[in-house]
Amino acid sequence: MPATLVFATHNQHKLQEVAAKTGNQLNLQSLTDIDCHDDIEENGITFRANASIKSHYIFNKYNLNCFGDDSGLEIEALNGEPGVYSARYAGEHGNHEANIAKVLEKLQGISNRKANFRTVISLIWNGQEHFFEGVIQGSIRHEKAGAKGFGYDPIFEPDGYNITFAEMSMEEKNSISHRAIAMEKLIAFLNQQV
Ligand code: IMP
Repeated sequence: MPATLVFATHNQHKLQEVAAKTGNQLNLQSLTDIDCHDDIEENGITFRANASIKSHYIFNKYNLNCFGDDSGLEIEALNGEPGVYSARYAGEHGNHEANIAKVLEKLQGISNRKANFRTVISLIWNGQEHFFEGVIQGSIRHEKAGAKGFGYDPIFEPDGYNITFAEMSMEEKNSISHRAIAMEKLIAFLNQQV
């Protein structure tokens, strides 16, 4: 019987990305799968805190091995903003157009365009917490380019490329992204455990 592991997300796409790499050694479940529809309040001020809030919530309520993730964009010249506020930088949760407009406005006239995306994962495995992190460095364009992806993808150009995340195929982005780097570390750990 494979060990059960809950990914504290309702995003089936994120779940499948991990499931594809852990194979059938693990019984991977989403929040939807375990019938958890609670509104878990992510009120931490770091990615680490928010990831940890999610994993602890599930562990405390269901006593299951689980992990949660949190990601966002950090811009050097804005002292790491939007950071944990990435999804709601311009006020309304998930309004990517408004978020991008706010970033471009704040960076007007600023030549330091350095930025990175970061993902932190908190895993609770047999009662112990482990963290995994992925970072991709890049820069913020002056204008949007590309229509793929989501969030800040149209203004983020990863170092070593001359296209934005939104101009890359999903496969290419998913092979270099902050999320992919953190997930690879998690998967390497899990594959040693099961
Ligand atoms: P989440 O923690 O993965 O839900 O990400 C929180 C927010 O960070 C998203 O709503 C986006 O605004 C931003 N973000 C995280 N990852 C990406 C990415 O790969 N591309 C663009 N924006 C991202």
